[in-house]
Amino acid sequence: MFYRDTWVEVDLDRIAENVSNIKRHAGFENLYAVVKANAYGHGDVEVARAALDAGANMLAVAFLDEALNLRREIRDVPVLVMGPIRPADIAVAAEQNIDVTAHDLNWIEAAAGYQGVPANVHLKIDSGMHRIGVTNAESFAKACSMLDAETNLNLIGLFTHFATADGCVDHYQNQIDKVKAITADTDLSRFKYVHQSNSAALLRHPQQTAANGGRLGISMYGLAPSDEFELPCELKQAFSLHSRITQVKRLKAGDKVGYGATFEAEEDMLVGVMPIGYADGWLRYHQNRPVEINGKEYPIVGRVCMDQTMIRVDESVCVGDQVSLINDNITVDNAAQDLGTINYEIVCSISDRVPRVYKRGGETVSVRNDRFK
Ligand SMILES: *Cc1c(COP(=O)(O)O)cnc(C)c1O
Repeated sequence: MFYRDTWVEVDLDRIAENVSNIKRHAGFENLYAVVKANAYGHGDVEVARAALDAGANMLAVAFLDEALNLRREIRDVPVLVMGPIRPADIAVAAEQNIDVTAHDLNWIEAAAGYQGVPANVHLKIDSGMHRIGVTNAESFAKACSMLDAETNLNLIGLFTHFATADGCVDHYQNQIDKVKAITADTDLSRFKYVHQSNSAALLRHPQQTAANGGRLGISMYGLAPSDEFELPCELKQAFSLHSRITQVKRLKAGDKVGYGATFEAEEDMLVGVMPIGYADGWLRYHQNRPVEINGKEYPIVGRVCMDQTMIRVDESVCVGDQVSLINDNITVDNAAQDLGTINYEIVCSISDRVPRVYKRGGETVSVRNDRFK
């Protein structure tokens, strides 16, 4: 339930379709659905369930709190925290059967002697992203032997992350080669899970790596990781954002709109108001961008306020009319391009003030309103 007419719609059929198409294309046995950041703003539990139904068999998030939140609802599938956790929190993860990442030797040293519930550990190699992970063959070997010596830490996974799977092929290939060099003396079959590919690599470089799994993020949501390569299968945007007109008013030439009075009517005109603003993640940068009402585009005028935004409309627009801020015509990619950013940032920005409405077969199947959690 929600009482303000502003909502996100998430098409779970499209998420399922994206997952199964990409899984078929990539050909890996294991597929993590990456549902960090509340599933890129789509809703973590709901997306996780749809992705698992469609062929993903594991879940991945960025930090422990996100994993614990998922575990309250989803008990029986592996969940990996891809970022570092405090060594002191391994027990918290292990008690909820959440897999953790060992990202450097100091972390492993601090974790050594861990006596709690046995924890599953994935070792992270930094192969050229220069974010987290062990960086050379010597520390990799040391990390493996230190973890092997621990009775309550089970080293079950190995992974790395690509910086340019969507772009520079040389850098991507260097990362592949670096993993090979670092692990040259190790039989990779000792790891139950070896996963390297993000969306871009799954789409563009399928089955190229010595892996048996991949981590699918942005493309599960139907968004392309970049426009630098041709997609091997269609991606269907699952996310749309809507509101409704709350008031229409007539302005005279010279009247000004909004904070700072930055927009001035050059002639008599109509302004419509909708209840969404920057506190909803509809950032001030959206000023002047188009929205769609009854199939026609109208521009946002004046500054976006915290809770409300004004639109230049015409006589055809009435109170109660639906406004689509993001849909199949005004896409997430359009917004990203207009704002000089990436599609990831647009969907992640829409805050949990905005309820998420889940669709299957065109029908609403559930509503998530975090205000009433
Ligand atoms: C976010 C993330 C992913 C998913 O990347 P996409 O480009 O969204 O597919 C995969 N692996 C790691 C380590 C990540 O942080």
